[in-house]
Amino acid sequence: MLKNVFSSMHIGKMEVANRLVVPAMVMNFCNSDGTATEKFIAYHETKAKGGWGLIITEDYAVDPRGKGFTGIPGLWDDAQIEGHSELTERVHRYGSKIVAQIYHAGRQTNHFVIGMQPVAPSPIPCPANQEIPHELTVAEIHKIVEEFGDCALRARKAGFDGVEIHGAHGYLIAQFMSPYSNKRTDEYGGSLLNRVRFPLEIISNIRAKAGNDFPIIFRISGDEFVPGGRTIEDTKTIAVLLEHAGVNAIHVSAGVYASMQAIVPPAAVRHGWITDFAAEVKKVVSIPVITVGRINDPIMAETVITSGKADFVAMGRASLADPELPNKAAAGKFDDINYCIGCLQGCIGSLNRGNPGGCLVNPVTGRESELVIKPAEEKKKVFVAGGGPAGMEAAIVAAQRGHEVHLYEKSDRLGGQYAIGAIPPNKGEVDMFIVWQYNQLKKYGVNIHFNTELTVDIVEKEAPDAVVVATGGEPLVPNIPGKDRSNVVNANDVLLGKVNVGHKVIVIGGGMVGSETADHLSNHGKEVTIVEMLPEIAKDEEAAVRYFLMKDLEQNGVKIYVNAPVKEILDDGVIVEIDGAETEIGPADTIVMAVGARSVNTLIEQLEGKVPQVIAIGDAVKVCKALEAVEAGYRAGLAV
Ligand code: SF4
Repeated sequence: MLKNVFSSMHIGKMEVANRLVVPAMVMNFCNSDGTATEKFIAYHETKAKGGWGLIITEDYAVDPRGKGFTGIPGLWDDAQIEGHSELTERVHRYGSKIVAQIYHAGRQTNHFVIGMQPVAPSPIPCPANQEIPHELTVAEIHKIVEEFGDCALRARKAGFDGVEIHGAHGYLIAQFMSPYSNKRTDEYGGSLLNRVRFPLEIISNIRAKAGNDFPIIFRISGDEFVPGGRTIEDTKTIAVLLEHAGVNAIHVSAGVYASMQAIVPPAAVRHGWITDFAAEVKKVVSIPVITVGRINDPIMAETVITSGKADFVAMGRASLADPELPNKAAAGKFDDINYCIGCLQGCIGSLNRGNPGGCLVNPVTGRESELVIKPAEEKKKVFVAGGGPAGMEAAIVAAQRGHEVHLYEKSDRLGGQYAIGAIPPNKGEVDMFIVWQYNQLKKYGVNIHFNTELTVDIVEKEAPDAVVVATGGEPLVPNIPGKDRSNVVNANDVLLGKVNVGHKVIVIGGGMVGSETADHLSNHGKEVTIVEMLPEIAKDEEAAVRYFLMKDLEQNGVKIYVNAPVKEILDDGVIVEIDGAETEIGPADTIVMAVGARSVNTLIEQLEGKVPQVIAIGDAVKVCKALEAVEAGYRAGLAV
């Protein structure tokens, strides 16, 4: 079925066994001096085991001043070679090829990361980083060109099969290539040929130092999606120049930091959304072209290649969600693939919160040496209360370890509150994880008891050895006068289709649930108003998810009142306080309550002293992100 995906192809002299590529993704797993860690190596090794043809590492800084994150690798010093040699050696054991992406962040970094002023072609701050960079002198440009060549040579010495020059996403090379950021008036600015001089000199320096036979991939943004930035026609012209300069493949991505939603797009962005950029580049070069961008399905990878749009398909976040995707696809085990759902919580979201990267649907990402499933020493009877993602994860892991596992779910369906979150627009992929977990429960023989709430009576009668309490949360009902009126409903009931909603709706609460419910209703033709007591709505969403949500709300004409606590609910509206004065908002037919959730945790106390081991996880302990709840479930499965 996937005959193109599983056919080999060369990039220069490097033969890649299949067309599935792990692109560079910043995960922040290395030491701050750029040396490799076991975490970094095991993370890549797991992907190699999973069957990826080519792994492109996250950005190796060519100079400490070029680092955009503290925990990325570096090859600016010979002393760094040894640790990274272990990485290439362990990846090669499984037949994957590994290429080091080499880069300089330029102005897309900050003083607090590199300890000095960032550098750039021109002294214009990146709108995202906001720090005025030092304008590079020609001598300094020449020095960085040499550093790229030296770095590539070190990569070769470390056993890498090639390098990928990072010319995409608004980093230093991209800054030179784009009139958006390059305002120079010397030989490195102005015309396109001048703007491309810097990368062409880098390619030539790498060739001179690392050899003509050392494969070079060049990554470029097809369109930068910023006013005045490069577009696809500029990219095609540059691609021709790059091929002429001797690069062996071109990897077409999109965006710069100021258009981050293009670099790491959420589920609101269609699958394969920039594959047409790769196809355009492919029309003008004869070297292989790699595409990327929200492709999370190997069957889609096959259709992209079959349609001639690209030669290789990079599936970054799909590889975080399931490093074994290629092997499962090759074996036809599509139901077994844990698909990326485009939530951004673990990958970019964790980084934005200052943590190493991870993945909501795969807590093992980045913890490959730590979260290891080993058979339990003693087979136990394990009960799990609650069939949300945390409870299911605990049940799956416990069953994989050989325990007899019973999952109790009080309703007739799995997924809990999380599954309700799949209902609003652009959230449908959330269900893929629930369905995957359900498949895994069946695969590992978990006994699922639907329509059964786990009670103390059941526990006393059945005498399990351990209970995992994953009873989740329930909607919070604030004590607002009028909350019991017949026109008041809660957001979950609206999303589940349990209540009728009139044409004019006010949603109380502009957090994730309230904003997404408003989006859902406005997409169903309702006139919607959100009232929120905080200064902004949807602040608990990941940044790029919020970007598209806000656009949708605006397009649908949703009215938003912020800094507006609700004082009273009326028959046909609400009274809010704005700037110290009470104002009536309405008229409205229905008032939807979406003011948060609270833990459902009574079972925890009730079980005290009645069962040898009780572990409470997820929302049952404290309302949290699904990312944290699923990880807690995984750890509970290991702990019983
Ligand atoms: Fe995909 Fe979400 Fe995992 Fe990121 S955290 S890789 S978006 S499933």
